[in-house]
Amino acid sequence: MKKMNQINNGILYIVPTPIGNLLDITHRALEILKNVNLIAAENIRHTNILLQNFNIKNNLILMNKDNEKKQSNNLIEKLKTGKNIALVSNAGTPVINDPGHLLIKKCHFFNINIIPLPGPCSAITALSASGITNNRFCYEGFLPSKKKKRCDLLLSLKEETRTMIFYESKYRILETIKDIIEQIDKYRHIVIAREITKKWESIYGTQANLMLNWLQEDKNRYKGEIIIIVEGFKKTKIDHLSNEILNTFILLRQSLSLKKAVLITSQIYKISKNYLYQKMIQKEK
Ligand code: SAM
Repeated sequence: MKKMNQINNGILYIVPTPIGNLLDITHRALEILKNVNLIAAENIRHTNILLQNFNIKNNLILMNKDNEKKQSNNLIEKLKTGKNIALVSNAGTPVINDPGHLLIKKCHFFNINIIPLPGPCSAITALSASGITNNRFCYEGFLPSKKKKRCDLLLSLKEETRTMIFYESKYRILETIKDIIEQIDKYRHIVIAREITKKWESIYGTQANLMLNWLQEDKNRYKGEIIIIVEGFKKTKIDHLSNEILNTFILLRQSLSLKKAVLITSQIYKISKNYLYQKMIQKEK
């Protein structure tokens, strides 16, 4: 039901499209693409291929990251005059690291009805097949391209307990895996989901340092579109530190600062460094 002040407005439909296999489109998505007054597409040529495949003829208008600001205002005016518009991106769910956020924000502002459709999203599809626990996850999108910023962000995620999802490009994947090894943990389990729903689809998981070797062995293993899933940090619940952990710490502490000895011990035994620090600082008091 439309609210009173929405009565003359059109509707903005958010329509996910296939991420490779053209069959991955819903009946409802096709109905909407056929029946709206206008399709706002991130890439006209790409969307035309999809429409032609399903014998759909409709009007398209370009909305990409370069013209999003101007085009959003234009589309809002059309929605206000009662036109129904479908928003589609190059592939997958619009707005998820794709244009459209500004338009949707403006729709909220002008009280224009938004109807989102469920459908393909590469991040969720990859997560579902990762074999990594997925009841709690965080979506991180693309990592920064500058090394320093990328490393800082990865370091800040070192103790993130939720499963993490990253988009990555074939040009940067090796660098990113090296950074994960350095900033997070060389033993952390990661999964690379590549070319999902396409001919060369592959899903492979192993610990970070072994993943780097596996990728370096064959360039074909990182061709195409890639998602990285990283297992979350696992706190080892310990009330008592074992003698082995204590002895290692004591040995390291003979030549290192408290902080350094804690850091190395926590890395060796995969235990929370904060927990270990608290325990050790009490012991040393
Ligand atoms: N909105 C899109 C979605 O819902 O999937 C994501 C858009 S983002 C600009 C594009 C990135 O998504 C790619 O660089 C890649 O990391 C990931 N991606 C898209 N399609 C993929 C596929 N078929 N297989 C693996 N990753 C994919």
